[in-house]
Amino acid sequence: QFVTIEGIEGVGKTTNVAFVAGLLAGFNIEWVRTREPGGTPMAEEIRDLLLAPRDEVVDETTELLLMFAARAQHLRRFILPSLAAGTWVLCDRFTDATYAYQGGGRGVDTARIAQLEALVQGDRKPDHVIILDAPAELGLARAGRRGGLDRFEQETVAFFERVRQVYLDRAADEPQRYHIVDAAQPLDVVQGQLASIVQHLVTA
Ligand code: C5P
Ligand code: MG
Repeated sequence: QFVTIEGIEGVGKTTNVAFVAGLLAGFNIEWVRTREPGGTPMAEEIRDLLLAPRDEVVDETTELLLMFAARAQHLRRFILPSLAAGTWVLCDRFTDATYAYQGGGRGVDTARIAQLEALVQGDRKPDHVIILDAPAELGLARAGRRGGLDRFEQETVAFFERVRQVYLDRAADEPQRYHIVDAAQPLDVVQGQLASIVQHLVTA
């Protein structure tokens, strides 16, 4: 099974991806943990290109193509072979992040994203998407404490509210494939809900 975790900045994604990985380790399955953009040495180099703060304005088409370039490498060279071997893949972000950030955040036309998705993925999509949801205001207040912001983390509350809305809209369209967890709740409550989602996925 191909499972991804999504959310805006500051919702606790890093902590909870590690938590979900720990849960998977408790079941009798093979699994790997990976992330986007990145996940292979070359794709990680593309990630560095994408995230570095820079003076040059990054055109949104450049950003979009680099995201999908990294994804093509990651998907074809790592994710698909893993899935073919029967290994579960837990991925920190995937194409939903492109619809949310490049689409909702930057305003790239959804149809263009869908074209690249079809080119790179065919109809391969995550089997399950877990969305950690919280208001942008809360997420940014939490993320702000981390310091050392990347190029995206410097965006405004309005940008992240648009990103969040795309995640919620996509989840509403396919409630059986998307699982929303209210990340504004205390961490133990969030993790209790994650545990029941994972339990359900593994034993389904
Ligand atoms: O998951 P993480 O926060 O480490 O992602 C790194 C950065 O890449 C984030 O700031 C995220 O907003 C950005 N990103 C993006 N579009 C994607 C995937 C990630 O803007 N499709
Ligand atoms: Mg981040």
